[in-house]
Amino acid sequence: MDFINFMQPCYDDKEKEAVTKYINSGGWLTEFKETRNFEASIAEYTSSKYCSVMTNGTVTLIAALMAMDIKPGDEVIVPDFTMSATSHAAAILGAKPIFVDVERSTLCMDFAKMQTAVSEKTKAVIFVDLNGRYSSEFEKIITFCKANGLWLIEDAAQALGSSYKGKSLGTFGDIGSFSFSMPKIITTGQGGAVITDSEELYDRMLKIRDFGREKAGADHYLAIGANFKYTDLQAVVGIEQMKKMPARIMHKKDICKKYDSLLAKIDGIEIFNNNYEDTAPCFYEVLCDKRDELIDFLKSKNIGARKFYPPLHSEPAYGYTDKHFPVTEEISAKGLWLPSSVLLTDEQIEYICGCVEEFCSENY
Ligand SMILES: *Cc1c(COP(=O)(O)O)cnc(C)c1O
Repeated sequence: MDFINFMQPCYDDKEKEAVTKYINSGGWLTEFKETRNFEASIAEYTSSKYCSVMTNGTVTLIAALMAMDIKPGDEVIVPDFTMSATSHAAAILGAKPIFVDVERSTLCMDFAKMQTAVSEKTKAVIFVDLNGRYSSEFEKIITFCKANGLWLIEDAAQALGSSYKGKSLGTFGDIGSFSFSMPKIITTGQGGAVITDSEELYDRMLKIRDFGREKAGADHYLAIGANFKYTDLQAVVGIEQMKKMPARIMHKKDICKKYDSLLAKIDGIEIFNNNYEDTAPCFYEVLCDKRDELIDFLKSKNIGARKFYPPLHSEPAYGYTDKHFPVTEEISAKGLWLPSSVLLTDEQIEYICGCVEEFCSENY
């Protein structure tokens, strides 16, 4: 078996032809009509009014927080278990990320614990649709934020193609944010998008992404902004990737169901209970209390697995070593992602699960 990567981008002749056609057209590479078309396809797919595509899924979070006027000293509630961009986006603006533990079943922010984290300084909540899931008290979180005048950002970087009650994830807050980095369900190398139904927030984000300009090309600055602009060269790839979403979602679900069926009964392995009606997982997750040994064993078998994120609160960048978030601490120590690329074949999944079984039969 050749090495099986944890993740791999997936593209074919469609992307190749689109890039060639674009280059042959003499396009200026930077964002223009194709970026607008990519935005339109995301807005349509998620049934949202507005979409703005930017450099990546970290700056989309920063732009969203800037549009909400988050300032130094403000507090932004974030889950302790997430990709670091969620909390960094708040911290880089001088705001204080307030970490909250997650639910054991969904790995999404725990509503009861979130409520206790709210203070007079709280301005926003960033809810992460972790691995395409929503929490068991999702609606309560949305209602609570509205009732208490808190902005709600949905970090849906791992949730394009997943839904709640038939509505796309990313549409439940004031702003939703996506990423098109390499491990995500569709990729343009780097890239991100914000969606919103608020014209006001959208207008602010358009300015923020373009130096605060009144409009493109005008040297008149209505706000402080940066350059978070995208490129048409990437947009033509994104447009082709979007067309593949329906097939890709089915494939992701099939991969996870196949893993579920082969791993469910193995002693030493705990799997998650996904609702595949709604969730198209980005990654296939398992828990194992000999996680590091399992990862090393898989590597020796040419299989790339990856550890879960660390509890962010105690990372040196934040250093809240006096605080404890028991669920995050437990699952961060036990969790790993098995290869989850849409390029995985059934044969590879069977091989991977056979290796997991071999490890567990020797260790449990
Ligand atoms: C990938 C990811 C991001 C960051 O996106 P980039 O495009 O890599 O900057 C943010 N939040 C979550 C939950 C992610 O998975």
